[in-house]
Amino acid sequence: MKIHEYQAKEILRRYGVATPRGVPAFSVDEAVKAAESLGGKVWVVKAQIHAGGRGKGGGVKLARSIDEVRALAGGILGMQLVTHQTGPGGQKVRRLLIEEGADIARELYVGMVVDRGSQKVALMASSEGGMDIEEVAARTPEKIHKVFVDPELGLTDAEAEEAAHRIGVPEASQAEAVQLFKNLYRCYMETDASLAEINPLILEGNGHLKALDAKFNFDSNALFRHPEIVACRDLDEEDPAEVEASKYDLSYISLDGDIGCLVNGAGLAMATMDVIKLYGGSPANFLDVGGGASTEKVTEAFKIMLRNPGLAAILVNIFGGIMKCDVIAAGIVAAAREVKLGVPLVVRMKGTNEDLGKQILKESGLPIISANNMAEAAEKVVAAAKGAK
Ligand code: ADP
Ligand code: MG
Repeated sequence: MKIHEYQAKEILRRYGVATPRGVPAFSVDEAVKAAESLGGKVWVVKAQIHAGGRGKGGGVKLARSIDEVRALAGGILGMQLVTHQTGPGGQKVRRLLIEEGADIARELYVGMVVDRGSQKVALMASSEGGMDIEEVAARTPEKIHKVFVDPELGLTDAEAEEAAHRIGVPEASQAEAVQLFKNLYRCYMETDASLAEINPLILEGNGHLKALDAKFNFDSNALFRHPEIVACRDLDEEDPAEVEASKYDLSYISLDGDIGCLVNGAGLAMATMDVIKLYGGSPANFLDVGGGASTEKVTEAFKIMLRNPGLAAILVNIFGGIMKCDVIAAGIVAAAREVKLGVPLVVRMKGTNEDLGKQILKESGLPIISANNMAEAAEKVVAAAKGAK
């Protein structure tokens, strides 16, 4: 799960990481009031969307008067902000962060992720923070210093000192950097984050360090123990199909292909997508209806897939173990009655109550293309999708 920058900064402050003072705003009037309450002479108007690269996309602007805050807030609120992370359609800006302008002497970078290779949490730090960090990582990876943290010891003083030194934090600010890195590590672990990134981490003219931007991803499997993080969820920032699916406890991920997949079991779902690819097709989604799905759940899954205007065909691939084939078949029929099934449907069913499932489908009169194994199913659905265009 992702959260907005202003929410991320609230969490960082709770862990003793300094940030500029700022106030979120949902309207132009609120933005003006926020700037007035902050005082000072320079403000930054920042679009709040769950994507990075806002600066380059025109979503982070400096204002030198209250009138300018008003004009910029009016321009940014409601805009369709396109960044390298949003895709060409961009994301609509519904919230702003009005922040005091910081005195930036240097822009550094610090982030934490799970490193699968070492099976540890990695702290990454760089002297080259700011808006081009992706390029730094791609072209000059040696400029990113990595520490693989021992889970028993946590981030040690020595490791934090080494990181601060490597990224060129001046002597006088090193103790502050060490404390900041350790606070960030504690924050990352205690909130069950899967990514925590401060870019830029700035060195101010007075030698203090501040998080000028903040980004978190949280492990959704651990959200049950963090109601305060769940409360930050912003459904406007999530894929509507995925939000709808989560209501029914369906594991659904939107993809950019045109073949809808309805499968039971995550492993089988992955394999199904692979086979579709192998036969020259492209999946429109990942969908695992789970082991104990009800007819209602299957119906909803179908409806969610069918709402995708780019859908060209559907492949249902069921291995009936705990899940019974007749339940899936009943779901397909119920969904087809509720929503017009305008695309070809290929079904492969094996296992518990297979015959009953096939009978239900046959008696429904739906134009279903049946297949006996995965290869045949993939071949047929790819052909059907091409034919449907
Ligand atoms: P993004 O990473 O999405 O582009 P950032 O929050 O990192 O957004 O902002 C982009 C750039 O804008 C920063 O690298 C920094 O130079 C500038 N900036 C952001 N916030 C402030 C601020 N409060 N004061 C001064 N400059 C800022
Ligand atoms: Mg940034």
